[in-house]
Amino acid sequence: VTDHDLVIRGGRVIGADGETTADIAVDGERISAVATGLRGRREIDAAGLYVIPGAVDGHVHMRTDRPVDVYDDTFESGSVAAAFGGVTTFVDQAQVEPGTPLMEGFASRRREAEGNCLIDYGIHLNPREPSLERVAEIPAVMAEGCPTVKLFMSYETYRLPDDIIYRAMQQVAAAGGMAVVHAENGAIVAELSRELDQLGRTEPSWFPHISPPVMEGEAAHRALALARLAGCPLLIFHLTTVESLTELRRARDAGQPAFGEVLLHHLLLGDELYDDPDLAPQFMGTPPLRSREHRDALWAAVSDGSLDVISTDHGPRRRVADETGALRHQAGTSGVEVRLALMHSEGVLKGRIDRSRWVEVCCTGPARLHGLQRKGRLAPGHDADIVLFDPRAERTLSADVLHSAIDHSTYEGTSVRGWPVVTISRGEVLVAGGELRAQPGRGRFVRRSYAAGPLPFS
Ligand SMILES: [Zn+2]
Repeated sequence: VTDHDLVIRGGRVIGADGETTADIAVDGERISAVATGLRGRREIDAAGLYVIPGAVDGHVHMRTDRPVDVYDDTFESGSVAAAFGGVTTFVDQAQVEPGTPLMEGFASRRREAEGNCLIDYGIHLNPREPSLERVAEIPAVMAEGCPTVKLFMSYETYRLPDDIIYRAMQQVAAAGGMAVVHAENGAIVAELSRELDQLGRTEPSWFPHISPPVMEGEAAHRALALARLAGCPLLIFHLTTVESLTELRRARDAGQPAFGEVLLHHLLLGDELYDDPDLAPQFMGTPPLRSREHRDALWAAVSDGSLDVISTDHGPRRRVADETGALRHQAGTSGVEVRLALMHSEGVLKGRIDRSRWVEVCCTGPARLHGLQRKGRLAPGHDADIVLFDPRAERTLSADVLHSAIDHSTYEGTSVRGWPVVTISRGEVLVAGGELRAQPGRGRFVRRSYAAGPLPFS
């Protein structure tokens, strides 16, 4: 009997396809065995703990160099927060400014992450210039390990017209990738904003009116139609309404390779927060928080598989002092450190999803959907990205116990039951005993692909 480098002994090993009590052996950076009676030169006792694949957050925004739309978690602070939250891989975005060649924008985003990240990371390509010249540059960037291309239908200087989206989707499909779309009707969102301004309706309580559910449904329908026309697999980011879920289900029922993401805050927080002028500014991005009817539909879709992944869109900002010196929230939410725990408390413990579905939507599903071939599963040959989760640990969420470089938590004061207590990435312990055990900068850019295995959508 040869000893393994590391054995995690006697935990409850939970996968997307079921659970069992077993040991996990790690040699080098990979998992080498899942069995009983394994021995290692180092051992971690996991009795009484859940042992799950490192979580994957497919939608985060770390700080970038540009002058506007900047977030306050850097690749360093954000990846440390992620690791404390049981996340071992996240996927950020290269939002390439109009006028900049896509390869240059992609390379510069890679340089911002390189040497700063604690965990492994991928990068979505986000072309923002509505030109066929840029569209033609997409395949070369995809060949750099970036099979996912984010396309905005909303926001000035981000949004692309339908003809460009269609042409971009053709390129993505031909190169074996997946389009990722922010599906809102940008012209109507902008017009409804102007309308509210003209009517003097500037209080936060009016904010959700700029993105009515019927128009999110329209945009989802259009994104799906364009993807179908282009023959391109599609992931719709942050679905929030009954109407867009109906469109997604209809496309899937017709056999279209289409997928849906929901964000943590759209599941957990309701539009009544817009009546709180102190808290509301955090949620003044679109799509907005929704009513109970829509949130119940989102939970049902997470449970029945209509929605594939839960992400955070992590992009928090520190509060800033106003002219009176009072600290005011800015738009942007934090979530990367608390998603696993909140989905356990609010999903598993409240009976909305079972433990396997929890692992699927937080770990295995995002890895598969984003082409992270060796992530998201506890199986021999996969990267040894492993989280030990204590289902009895209790925390009250606040900036004091969390690790983001911000002065508050989006879920401030929320109590959770269950918390990640050990986070391992490629066989290296990142977090244990509430302490950081590894150095930021060790995280690697992961070349993602759908080529080595069956397409998630084939
Ligand atoms: Zn985002």
